[in-house]
Amino acid sequence: MAAVMRFMVMGAPIAHSLSPMIHAQFSAQTGRDVVYETCLLDRTHFEQQVRDFFAAGGAGLNITSPGKERAFAMADVKTPRCAVARAANTLWMNQAGQLCADNTDGVGLVRDLHHHGIKLTNARILVLGAGGAARGILPALLDEHPRYVAIANRTASRAEALIQSLESTKLSYRPLDAVTGSYDLILNAIAGTHVSLPHISGEPLCYDLNYDAFGMTPFVAWAKKAGFKAVDGLGMLVQQAAEAFFVWHGVKPSLTSIIL
Ligand code: NAP
Repeated sequence: MAAVMRFMVMGAPIAHSLSPMIHAQFSAQTGRDVVYETCLLDRTHFEQQVRDFFAAGGAGLNITSPGKERAFAMADVKTPRCAVARAANTLWMNQAGQLCADNTDGVGLVRDLHHHGIKLTNARILVLGAGGAARGILPALLDEHPRYVAIANRTASRAEALIQSLESTKLSYRPLDAVTGSYDLILNAIAGTHVSLPHISGEPLCYDLNYDAFGMTPFVAWAKKAGFKAVDGLGMLVQQAAEAFFVWHGVKPSLTSIIL
């Protein structure tokens, strides 16, 4: 009998994660015997946690906030999209015992934006945040040929390093506490807190990478109150999970019957 394959998502916080529920449905659908659990990321010993998981026979890891840049840094082999993003959310070991890394956030976001009928070509985009998630989504957004992408972050140096590493003339930095302007799409990739934007004009679609299966995220609530259309990141979560499942198992699960 084949051994049960073990998968895990590591992050801090992690208790809210819906990834185990999503992967359980993908596994049942495709007839795979797998276990997918959550694990609180230890900020001091993260790299050791990852190594211990694979040393104990773990098959695959998803990494969420705040571990994506560190996961990238410790990987031996990176997929091209992960190498551009310099952040990883999907890890596994290859036959040669090398730690491999991919990033499925960008494709997950773009697929969900298309699903919502959002046009990215020539769009004026504002991204809030410059952490691992922003790194993951920016290369995929740039591939869609937006007019420009402004990045607003609390820590200027982090946003500037991100802009420098992506080498695109379409990217620029905005201080988070002074964001103004008119955008077609605002993407919130800030973790753990809500930052309101009192000086936004136009009619942007506000997309929160954060999600709340039981209600509205603070960003979605803020956007709706301001009169903007808004959606949270549940769709992206399912899409990026489906891509990670494909990376690990070589099978694309169906998304039509997923219950959250
Ligand atoms: P991260 O690497 O830890 O980055 C956190 C980001 O939030 C940074 O830009 C950070 O700014 C900002 N931030 C944190 N506390 C702040 C505060 N008090 N005020 C202003 N800015 C603050 O996290 P991540 O991996 O980028 O993830 C970001 C969020 O996206 C997470 O909540 C994650 O769950 C969500 N996400 C969702 C999906 C999905 O599938 N729906 C996928 C990926 C990520 P500084 O640089 O100044 O610290």
